[in-house]
Amino acid sequence: MNKPTILVLGAGYGGLTTVVNLQKQLGENEADIVLVNKNDYHYETTWLHEAAAGTIAASKARYDISNVVNHSKVSFVKATVQQINVQEKKVITTDGDMTYDYLVIALGSEGETFGIPGLDKYALSLTSLNAARNIREHIEYQFASWSLDEEKDDSKLTFVVGGAGFTGIEFLGELGNRVPTLCKEFNVSQEKVRILCVEAAPMVLPGFDEELVEYAVAQLKKKGIEFSIGTPVVEATPEGVKIKVAENEFEFVKSRTVLWAAGVRGNHLIETSGIENNRARVRVEQDMRAPNFDDVFVVGDCAFLFNEEADRPYPPTAQIAMQQAVVVAINIVRLMKGEETVAFVPELKGSVCSLGHNDAIGDALGRKFTGKSASALKKVIDNRALFLVGGPSLVAKKGKFRFL
Ligand code: FAD
Ligand code: NAD
Repeated sequence: MNKPTILVLGAGYGGLTTVVNLQKQLGENEADIVLVNKNDYHYETTWLHEAAAGTIAASKARYDISNVVNHSKVSFVKATVQQINVQEKKVITTDGDMTYDYLVIALGSEGETFGIPGLDKYALSLTSLNAARNIREHIEYQFASWSLDEEKDDSKLTFVVGGAGFTGIEFLGELGNRVPTLCKEFNVSQEKVRILCVEAAPMVLPGFDEELVEYAVAQLKKKGIEFSIGTPVVEATPEGVKIKVAENEFEFVKSRTVLWAAGVRGNHLIETSGIENNRARVRVEQDMRAPNFDDVFVVGDCAFLFNEEADRPYPPTAQIAMQQAVVVAINIVRLMKGEETVAFVPELKGSVCSLGHNDAIGDALGRKFTGKSASALKKVIDNRALFLVGGPSLVAKKGKFRFL
């Protein structure tokens, strides 16, 4: 048989972990591994809230793909995927058309707006490193602009976060820490700044341990963050957001900054790929293949898996994306050898939600954590993700070691 081409789309947690595992298992002459990604760097999606709030530099959250791929085994193509056609086994990119023997789709997620008017246009989302940079600059611009503004339009200093899931809460923790520095830098009194989190469900972090949630809310309130709970955002305009506060009762919050963090859907390219999907996510077979396409694997946020035990889907997380990728690599090698594939069995280690660099809550390893111990655990998790892709040298270069 000719050398098969393994085409991996996306160099996030799912795609890069697949490639790193494939290059460990395959010799130079066994396959052509082609990795396609928009940028020639990988960014840590799980650190985007920090880059967006400006508590870390964007450069800290990225590293060059060339540092972790073995160029004698992997061809890296910097290109944007424009279309996937699994019937024709064709992928159209800005660098030309590509074909494959095995395809791995790992293109991550996009913000879900549920069709709420105005959000697409007027809200900001944590969807990429450049989006995070844009949010940071937008926030700084609001402070500068308010300082210069003779009329002192307070909507410039009102920051609304839509959604109190993990992304919303982690961003609030960072923003809460950054605001005192911004106030000092731009000579703004801190009482002028309003940070409001609007959540549709009756609680913050729906489904998470209530005691830990109580701790998180109390800590964020100490940083001056307000919560409006059980009150969905129903519209965004250039002037702010409309919130439903009761049946037929609405409030309008004037704000120049709306960060939308109300959940994710898969990458839109899935919807026109010819693969059965729901909200751009593919309900994969147990071995991570797309239904009806034996040569196509889907990994990470583009994949959907149901947790029968908990009677709900597994959440789209980096933890799961990386575990899936290990199995995807194993299964591709097994298929190449004519062997049966193995099933993906998630091993959930728990969740840790940061509340700034110095605080967090965690329900992990069978224990509950708060404060500094939870925050240290979060850094260990972040460093472990770096280690699994790039070994100790990547941890030394990019790791988080500010444990106190
Ligand atoms: P990603 O890691 O997002 O990678 C997708 C890749 O595809 C990117 O490199 C992107 O540039 C590339 N790409 C996209 N479109 C194209 C295209 N058209 N052409 C070429 N390339 C393209 N999960 C956890 O487990 N723990 C956490 O602590 C955690 N924290 C989070 C914090 C934040 C702020 C956010 C937003 C998410 C967090 N998550 C966390 C969720 C986690 O980041 C995702 O589940 C994970 O990134 C999914 O991995 P992925 O490989 O599917 O996508
Ligand atoms: P999510 O789905 O977890 O939370 C979204 C929140 O937005 C929910 O609480 C929902 O009730 C709320 N919401 C929905 N519609 C709304 C509306 N109209 N108005 C106001 N609120 C509304 O989404 P997420 O926080 O973006 O997280 C996405 C995925 O990434 C999840 O799987 C999450 O577990 C994962 N993640 C994990 C971590 C971590 O482990 N530390 C951090 C960030 C994200």
